[in-house]
Amino acid sequence: MKIAFIGLGNMGGPMAANLAGAGHEVVGVDPITAPEGLPMAASAADACAGADVAITMLPNGAILRAVANEIIPALPKGAVFIDCSTVDVDSARAVAQQAKAAGLGMLDAPVSGGIKGAAEGTLTFMIGGDAGTLETTKGLFDIMGQKAVHCGAAGAGQAAKICNNMILGITMLGTCEAFAMADKLGLDRQAMFDVVSTSSGYSWSMNAYCPAPGVGPTSPADNDYKPGFAAELMLKDLGLSQDAARACDADTPMGHLANEIYAKFIEEGGRGVDFSGVLPWLAGRANS
Ligand code: NAD
Repeated sequence: MKIAFIGLGNMGGPMAANLAGAGHEVVGVDPITAPEGLPMAASAADACAGADVAITMLPNGAILRAVANEIIPALPKGAVFIDCSTVDVDSARAVAQQAKAAGLGMLDAPVSGGIKGAAEGTLTFMIGGDAGTLETTKGLFDIMGQKAVHCGAAGAGQAAKICNNMILGITMLGTCEAFAMADKLGLDRQAMFDVVSTSSGYSWSMNAYCPAPGVGPTSPADNDYKPGFAAELMLKDLGLSQDAARACDADTPMGHLANEIYAKFIEEGGRGVDFSGVLPWLAGRANS
């Protein structure tokens, strides 16, 4: 397939490389980054002329909407536009409507699995849009990832991603504050991990991404809290969860609090730190 790949940052770069490596004709677009060996186009419109598929992996919904205005008119009728960025549900639905009106297939397909999953081609995709459109592009998801879950109509992929990451932010904070309190109670961190990881307090945050260095599987905590998944990205996703909660009138008190705590963590030195770096920050604080 001829693929225009727009947004070649930490995630998009390796995803595009995997598609090119599997034999697809990939042309990249990014104002800043040009991954080695990937042919680049001068503009998104140039890359999309004659393309079968356009894939975007962009920072946010505002940039997605701007890029969509450029690429939707440039793609041939019948082509498919796949947005893999994490954006608000409203932007996903608006762009899908615009693409449909132009005779394109459209999928919102945000991912889980991080930079490692992007590089290794083991991402999980959460997909919103038409099942037939997914069927015609399934081979691309198989190259970039290990799982593609069809979540429903346009925007459903973003809804799933936002809910998942709201749970992740909440469980990571809970895990960090329990470790920080366990320290002050004189509990050994290894004992804490051994108990909780096999008891009812277990979660992905504890078992797979333990915020305490030296216990559990290797995680960013063992690399001085270098991301990984930066606290700012978690704050972005929690912000999206709160936008979504307001828009659909959902009560999400834990999501609201997690959003406030990550904002405070970033304000107090957490910028550029992995989202599990909340543990040393909390460990240094007194009861309030
Ligand atoms: P990034 O900042 O590394 O990459 C974004 C890229 O988009 C940059 O290279 C930037 O130059 C490019 N860009 C910006 N405006 C553009 C435009 N108008 N045209 C073309 N390119 C443009 O971000 P990332 O870590 O690759 O994340 C991308 C998306 O994936 C985000 O929505 C993020 O929330 C989501 N995500 C990231 C992770 C992660 O672990 N990094 C995990 C899951 C999902």
